[in-house]
Amino acid sequence: NVILSVRNLTAEVDGIQILKGLNLEVKAGEIHAIMGPNGSGKSTFSKVLAGHPDYTVTGGEITFQGKNLLELEAEERARSGIFLAFQYPIEIPGVSNLDFLRVAYNSKRKHQGLEELDAFDFDDLVNQKLDIVKMDPAFLSRSLNEGFSGGEKKRNEILQMAMLEPMLGILDETDSGLDIDALKIVSNGVNQLAHAENAIVLITHYQRLLDYITPDYVHVMEGGRILTTGGKELALELEARGYDWVREEEAAEV
Ligand code: ADP
Ligand code: MG
Ligand code: MG
Repeated sequence: NVILSVRNLTAEVDGIQILKGLNLEVKAGEIHAIMGPNGSGKSTFSKVLAGHPDYTVTGGEITFQGKNLLELEAEERARSGIFLAFQYPIEIPGVSNLDFLRVAYNSKRKHQGLEELDAFDFDDLVNQKLDIVKMDPAFLSRSLNEGFSGGEKKRNEILQMAMLEPMLGILDETDSGLDIDALKIVSNGVNQLAHAENAIVLITHYQRLLDYITPDYVHVMEGGRILTTGGKELALELEARGYDWVREEEAAEV
């Protein structure tokens, strides 16, 4: 039951080739961690998956639930079940967090051929989901992301994911300032939201995060492609030995 299949993906930004032949297969029920040094192309990959307009795919294929993802606009990707945490951390003054969630949620229902949820049922649902992230309901009436702390943004991302119940959740931990609280928020959220029918791709250069989340696969990205793949023990090895040995072993094989 393959959810995401990426074959020989190449992509560029501003005319610079960043992804150089990336392969990845994600099946239902799996949690994948993509690690790798700064500048290896992790965030670029997540932006390409989300359909960010600044990134141009120059070769390869991406299928999502058997469909050609590259034919879909960013919004269609989101509606069809890909969730990328940083799709939404924009600040929108005057749009409350609750309004935003309602629009995003109902847009997804519409895509599924369902009617909008009425305001009362929607409130019930949001309140259930608030529990997952231990978030104060007062938070919902604030403007989207305006003045949110790093931890609050993380909590909010997990709340959005909990509401939208994506088939594929992609979390890119771009923040170098993730403190221990934010790590715990993200990991609790992921652990509660991951189930047998969906999949999570967790992009991080923090081995620490994997103390709280047990990935099925750990991939090491370098130079725009995945150099090596292992199980959760690979993250521990990276922590102990850094990334250099991965490059050396790879070079020795060629
Ligand atoms: P990572 O998330 O693994 O740290 P990125 O995907 O952010 O890596 O970046 C990969 C490479 O692409 C880096 O060398 C970075 O400088 C380059 N890059 C990313 N975005 C742009 C851009 N908009 N213009 C030019 N180069 C970019
Ligand atoms: Mg980086
Ligand atoms: Mg990054």
